[in-house]
Parts: sequence; structure tokens; C-alpha cells
Amino acid sequence: MALETLERARQEFLAALAEAGSDPARVEAVRVRFAGRRSGMLRDLEEALKSLPREEKPAYGKALNDLKKLIEESLTAAQRVAEDPGKRREAVDVTLPGRMPVVGAYHPVTLVRREIEEIFLRMGYSVADGPEAEDDWHNFEALNFPPDHPARDSQDTFFLKGGLLLRTHTSPVQIRTMEETPPPIRVIIPGRVYRCDSDLRHSPMFHQVEGLVVDEGISFSHLKATLEAFVHVLFDPRLKVRFRPSFFPFTEPSAEVDITCVLCLGKGCPMCSGTGWIEILGAGMVDPRVLRACKLDPERYSGFAFGCGLDRVALLKYGLPDLRLLFGGDERLLRQFEGVKR
Ligand SMILES: [Zn+2]
Repeated sequence: MALETLERARQEFLAALAEAGSDPARVEAVRVRFAGRRSGMLRDLEEALKSLPREEKPAYGKALNDLKKLIEESLTAAQRVAEDPGKRREAVDVTLPGRMPVVGAYHPVTLVRREIEEIFLRMGYSVADGPEAEDDWHNFEALNFPPDHPARDSQDTFFLKGGLLLRTHTSPVQIRTMEETPPPIRVIIPGRVYRCDSDLRHSPMFHQVEGLVVDEGISFSHLKATLEAFVHVLFDPRLKVRFRPSFFPFTEPSAEVDITCVLCLGKGCPMCSGTGWIEILGAGMVDPRVLRACKLDPERYSGFAFGCGLDRVALLKYGLPDLRLLFGGDERLLRQFEGVKR
């Protein structure tokens, strides 16, 4: 009976000390409550010894001494930690397993951007960048979108104060590059672009990457060979590339570029709507009017340009079903790209 009282006191003490943590005032309160000279619990337990029957005294006395020792030593340790937080380190249990740091992952769009950059860097290109808040000249006019030209309507532009706008494509960086650098020019231009458009297949902010080559004697065959090499390295050397005539204001002639469906390799599947082809790029020869706008002589220089949606390439590359996955910020998606390095 008496021994049970001691055991209860022991448990009560340990719980109270754990709750006090390293707060000096609370550790002191625990000391007063259990080991205080005038009214502490230990004192009461010592008093109880006197009134015990003789035969119970030895066992009780021994257990009481053990409890006293435990309380004194624990209090001394807790007070030392409370006085000097630096000493808490001494209380660290070195046998505990270490905590693994959480390592982040690259976003699939970043991965695919870096991979594309790397492919073109190896072909002798450099990476160019420009402002996201652009002026009308670089975003439209120099790219052969005259004022009131209907092609401007297709670009659903966000206009800013002061005559600026959020660039609707990465093509203004082509103009800035040609204005600043004499040929030969070989640049790859990745970046964020903005259009006032949001539904299942469109996001108001998305990513493009485009390339520009300007030099003497550049022809359409250079463009074809470059794009073939690019899709073979990025996706699969078995893919075929197909050019369909198209229109862009800044290239002439212009083409939409399809590649063999990366999923079914041309057999036909739901992703390619059974056609075996996927549209992936727009391309063409730089329009002479664009060269002239950048003060380059179209009689001497020619060039090609191509561009594609980086987000769409990321979906194809990693087999993701929905554009919104890329912008949802869901950690579970990113975790699947842990360890993928670029
Ligand atoms: Zn397919």
C-alpha cells in the first residue's frame, strides 16, 4: 500500500517535469512541489515512514531513498538545462536516428526547359532573355503585326499602363537580339508569356521557347535539319517530322510542324486522335520585313525561327494528361520528379 503511494509519486513527478520542459520558472515550481523543504511531497512521504508498521519500514525506506535520488538528479539536470539553453545539446540522445532533410524537386517545365537549352547549347546556340513587360514595337510592330492587323486579335493581350503590355510570345526577344547583335545569330529563347485566355486547355500565363538563326545563306533545309535533330534528341530518334504550310506574320514561308505521336509512334491512339501525328511547333523563314525592321539587309542575310509551347512539350515528355497539373502547385506531382536532374 505504502509502496504504491511512492510509485504514484514517482510517476506524478516525471509527468510534471516533462511538462515543465526547459522553462526555469516551471522547473522551480516542480522542485517546490516535490522537493520543497517545508511542504514538498518528499517531506510528507518521509513523515509517513514514521507511522508505518516496523516490518514495512525497510522496503519503504529503500524505495523512498531511490525516489529521492531520482528526484534530486532529475531536478539538477532540468535546472541546468533551464539556466543555459546552450546546454540542451548535452541532453541530445545521440543514439536517435538522424532526420533526413527534405530535398526538393525540379518542376517538369524547368526540367524540359533545361533539357531543350542543353540540346541547343550543344549545337552552338546561346540562351537569350528579355523583359516580360514589353512595348508595342517589340511585341507586335517589328514582328510585322501592323496596327489594326487582324493577327493582333489572336493574341488576346493584357495591356499595362504607360503603353506597355505583357508579352504575348517570346518573339520580342528575337527583335531585341537582332537589334543588339550583328549576325551570325544563334539563340534559344525560353520564357513566360501572357494571354487573356483561361479554360481547360489554356492558362493566362504559360511558357514558350523559341529559336532564331540569322546569317548569310540560311535556308529552309537548315531549319528542317535543326528541328529533326532537336526532336530526335528530346523525344525519340524514330520520330518523323512533317511540315504543313501555315501563316505567321513574322515568317515567310511559315509552317506548322508535326511529329510522329510520341505515345503510339504513329499507329494512332487517343492522344493523337488516331492520326499518328502531334502538332508541336510553329516555324518559318524570318520575314524580310522583320529583318529590315531590325536594320538588317534581307539581300545579304536570311534566317529561320521556330517556337513551341514549353508546357505542352513537358506534358508530352512526361506523359501528363492535363495542363492544369503544371500550374496547380500540387506537391504530389513534384515529388514524382525527385532525383530527375538537369
Ligand atoms: Zn498516338
